[in-house]
Amino acid sequence: MTTTARSGSSVPAPAPVPALSSRTASVGGSPVREILALTEAPEVISFAGGLPAPELFDSEGIRRAYDAVLSESPHRVLQYSTTEGDPALRASVAARLTTRGLPTEAGDLLITTGSQQGLSLLASALLEPGDTVLVEDPTYLAALQCFGLAGVRTVPVPTDEDGILPDALDALVAAENPKLLYLVPNFQNPTGRTLPLARRRAVAEIAARRGLWVVEDDPYGELRFGGESVPWISGCPGGEDRTVLLSSFSKVMAPGLRLGWLRGPEALRRACVIAKQAADLHTSTLDQAAAARYLADSDLDLHLEIVRDAYRVRRDALLAGLASALPAGSTWNHPEGGMFLWARLPDGLDAAALLPKAVEHKVAYVPGAPFYAGRPDAATLRMSFTTHTPKEIGVGLERLREALGA
Ligand code: PMP
Repeated sequence: MTTTARSGSSVPAPAPVPALSSRTASVGGSPVREILALTEAPEVISFAGGLPAPELFDSEGIRRAYDAVLSESPHRVLQYSTTEGDPALRASVAARLTTRGLPTEAGDLLITTGSQQGLSLLASALLEPGDTVLVEDPTYLAALQCFGLAGVRTVPVPTDEDGILPDALDALVAAENPKLLYLVPNFQNPTGRTLPLARRRAVAEIAARRGLWVVEDDPYGELRFGGESVPWISGCPGGEDRTVLLSSFSKVMAPGLRLGWLRGPEALRRACVIAKQAADLHTSTLDQAAAARYLADSDLDLHLEIVRDAYRVRRDALLAGLASALPAGSTWNHPEGGMFLWARLPDGLDAAALLPKAVEHKVAYVPGAPFYAGRPDAATLRMSFTTHTPKEIGVGLERLREALGA
């Protein structure tokens, strides 16, 4: 086809633009993000989001840290820096991990742009299209997206209220020959579940015996406000050379900093460094320097006590009202930390189908179905307890009761 330009001469019509990659086309956006867009109206009391409470950010301490590094060493903090990350920040993170029972050197760590980038780097460093990855069912939605973009097959491992079942994992590893198991060991997103120590040991033993990478993604472990903390799989015997720990400052400091880290064996870390060079060269020099300064000058543990106390009170407010807000026969768990709890409506009810009714009553939650890699349980839903005061949580629960006709 040709068109006639104003001068009268003919020019060929442009050829169509080449197609998007089949990986992006097949993965699609996050359904949770689309639902969240509906619930952003200020009058909606939302249990849907996964956001830390913004009024609890130590914005003053963080501002002081930025002021200090910008006034004392502007040439350094505004310059390019190494891919591995700020030495002082790596040393501080290593010291925190060592204190919490996992001996770690600064050199064992790679700073990432949020732990989400850690996942992408691992996908680049470890996975070929067509590989098999095992995940908890349900699991973190953006991990499913990341694995989808890598072109791998995700196979769900059966779970109960404490997380994955080791016998089922062992059988699946034998049957499916997966390369990697991805799990969120503490206060999992979306269920709030924590994997008990015996199962962590079993995961490490299976990984060692059968040959499997284990990625333990732990952004929520420091938000424990009850019970005893459980050692990481990374420290369990057998798994040391094949376990990668990811975490983040998002839930303990502020997610807008986009700072996370990866702890793993050297050869894998080097591969991740190459992947990171291709992705973004390095994480913001300024943000890393400010975080390191914050850790040196402020008391993150004291700040975390404030956050945990507030989240405990908010979780209790949600738990106190659920029995009267959800239809009779509903069940839910009692996480000892993190940001979420997981509920199940009686058989036959569909949490996604009921959501528009809830939004009409100006309250929201996230339906559980999108978090499943296998067959979804449509009756499940995720509720976050972090961003509203106990009083608002009470009002939200009353609206939910009206919406769901409890
Ligand atoms: N992993 C899990 C399990 C998460 O819930 C989140 C955040 N919602 C992330 C990773 C990503 O966190 P970050 O802000 O560190 O990229």
